[in-house]
Amino acid sequence: MHHPLSTLTALVEQIARTQDPSAMMATIVQRLSELLNVEVCSIYLCNPERDSLILATTKGLSAEAVGQAHLAINEGLVGHIAATLSAVNLADAPADDRFVYIPETHEMAYHRFLGVPLLHLRKLVGVLVIQGHQREPFSEEDEAFLITVASQLGSTLYQLHRDGKWMTNLPDSSSPYRRYNGVKGAPGVGCGRLWQIHPQMSLSDVKPSITSNPAQQKQDFQDALAAVREELESGSGRLGQHLPADVGALFHVYQMMLQSPELSERVIKLISEGASAEWALKQTIDEMAGMFEQSADPYMQARSEDIRNIGQRLLNQILERDQQVIETPDEELVLAGDLISIADIAAFPQERIRGLICTDGSALSHTAIVANALGIPAVMGVEGLELEHNRGARVIVDGNRAECVINPPPALLSEYKRMIVQEQRFMKGLDRLRDQAAETLDGVRIRLLTNTGLLADATPGLQRGAEGVGLYRSEIPFMVHHSFPTEHEQYRIYQKVLKAYSPYPVSMRTLDIGGDKQLPYFEINESNPYLGWRGIRFTLDNTQLLVSQIRAMLRAHAEHGNLKILVPMISRVDEIKTVRELVEKALAALERDGIHASMPEIGMMIEVPSAMLLLPKLAPYIDFVSVGSNDLTQYLLAVDRNNPRVSNLFDNLHPAMLVALEQILTQCRKLDLPVSLCGEMASDPIAVLLLIALGYDTLSLSAYNIPKIKLLIRSVRREDLLPLLEQAKDCTDESEIRDLFRPVVEQLGWSADGPALPSDYESRG
Ligand code: PEP
Ligand code: MG
Repeated sequence: MHHPLSTLTALVEQIARTQDPSAMMATIVQRLSELLNVEVCSIYLCNPERDSLILATTKGLSAEAVGQAHLAINEGLVGHIAATLSAVNLADAPADDRFVYIPETHEMAYHRFLGVPLLHLRKLVGVLVIQGHQREPFSEEDEAFLITVASQLGSTLYQLHRDGKWMTNLPDSSSPYRRYNGVKGAPGVGCGRLWQIHPQMSLSDVKPSITSNPAQQKQDFQDALAAVREELESGSGRLGQHLPADVGALFHVYQMMLQSPELSERVIKLISEGASAEWALKQTIDEMAGMFEQSADPYMQARSEDIRNIGQRLLNQILERDQQVIETPDEELVLAGDLISIADIAAFPQERIRGLICTDGSALSHTAIVANALGIPAVMGVEGLELEHNRGARVIVDGNRAECVINPPPALLSEYKRMIVQEQRFMKGLDRLRDQAAETLDGVRIRLLTNTGLLADATPGLQRGAEGVGLYRSEIPFMVHHSFPTEHEQYRIYQKVLKAYSPYPVSMRTLDIGGDKQLPYFEINESNPYLGWRGIRFTLDNTQLLVSQIRAMLRAHAEHGNLKILVPMISRVDEIKTVRELVEKALAALERDGIHASMPEIGMMIEVPSAMLLLPKLAPYIDFVSVGSNDLTQYLLAVDRNNPRVSNLFDNLHPAMLVALEQILTQCRKLDLPVSLCGEMASDPIAVLLLIALGYDTLSLSAYNIPKIKLLIRSVRREDLLPLLEQAKDCTDESEIRDLFRPVVEQLGWSADGPALPSDYESRG
């Protein structure tokens, strides 16, 4: 039998977007039983509270058994599959020793049985089973197919499982209190109302989704209609700019379209059938535009564009209305979205933002880096949290433990509030370190510089005792702009930063976009963006941008004299050679214009393994080196820094990184090149101990973390770390390396995970 895998993939994708969990599960078993032509298809899910499996949905077995039929892990065929994580394919299941009859299911009539485990990131989520009357095993083709399906469904079902949503008839499911784990984004704890950040969505991007609240969706649509009508009437809409000369007539066409029963009746009908307002709108607009496009009359054909325009306006209104549901005039907010852009953060008053939650991304995402810089607690890669359903809910963001808590019970909330106050006191207590040197107990002096990019965090760096800027991420001002900033606009920003830190040095990095750093006004679409047009590759190809940036930097340098230029993503000698030539030329050109700046030091980031291996060949063109441990780890380990699925594999303390870091330091010493490290590793207490032991003496980190790291440095003896480093060199795994250094951090009374929670608040999700 040939199985239409592509049909199934489409189904899985559609299912993944379905919001009603029971409808989703029912669709899965129904469609699978049709595709495989079997009498029974069932899903058993792990019941975390009882260490067992429970029948979560079925097509073919008795519906009464759903939520009732339990099997211990290792009990019956299903339990056996769960325990061994392997498939079972039998001609006659009831004849097998392991078979256990569950009376509620009435399954005695079935013989053939095929069950496969459902897994998500190596963890058991449940078991998928098909059964039939015949007494012969399923074909190998069926088995391979079911395994493929299970691998696609695992993560979708895991999310339901985490939410506890499938357990609709189990006692705890009504509790609105939920906990979700993610990965650490930025430390600290914060509490506020969840404010959902919607990505800018175009009508063509709307995906199928269903609603469990059609009345509300209809209302949202009606309100959107009224709002767009009003906008058009007042003539204030942005459409006005696009209207041709005969504005009055076209204006009338738009109004007619909005009022046409075809539009509203069709949308309302689709919502009644279960579609969300956005999805109903998209389908209707596509149908209407399609009809116009098929017309023989060119005038009518052209109207398809108008109807799409109307559709986009309605969609914007629906999405905007979503936001307005929460009235939070002065409340503290937790921003939540797939990935929150720097522009999103900048749109809110900073003092109101108490935390960030991203359902995507990882500790190395730029959202996390900015959150670190601003001291906003952040949790990244949170799976299973339905933002839509939790808009306006009270939420705690615990960046120390990579957790968020929705609707915490009052006792837990006050416990967290106590922790927030405690943390603020701890950080305040560290202010006294500002003017003290970051020096170990045995006199090894470490220079602590700061990473910055927003003008808003230039002052905190100084307040916390930074001795300069080790990494100025120049892409950040580019990201909050609406178009490429001009040379003069850049100059004004750069000179403020240089002035603020003068006479301390400021290492300004040339524009590093690409990867997860996108400019809203210059989209780069690549299938593998981290290996594509990124950093220096992009700017060298857009030389005019690089030259104007270098000129802006040099003009600021002419006034303050403390600029160093840092070049990202170097992987070849010709790249850095060209940058040096461009700087020399820009300097000469400015000189001709009467602007006298000295040649700044030029450094390169070591982020790509080839730069590390080519150091002696690159050395003639550089004055210093800065290790970008975020990207170096990503490229050395082939682990996407932004992908929560592999975030457990992303660790700066991987033994290969240890070899690389040592090699870089040895080479730099030989070549007489100053070296610093500016990745997030410099904020990780255990990693800092290792770096000090290796001999790194300049670290650049977010201002928020400087006092803690300074306190750590002032509390240890480098001598004591050296034997640990020697042992670390023999380790084969990053967790062994962490275990070696962890006791040093813990002796200071610190926990890498922050203060502990009361034990009676165990996770229920
Ligand atoms: C790095 O890669 O370590 C780094 C500091 O650069 P960014 O995080 O901005 O890519
Ligand atoms: Mg980098």
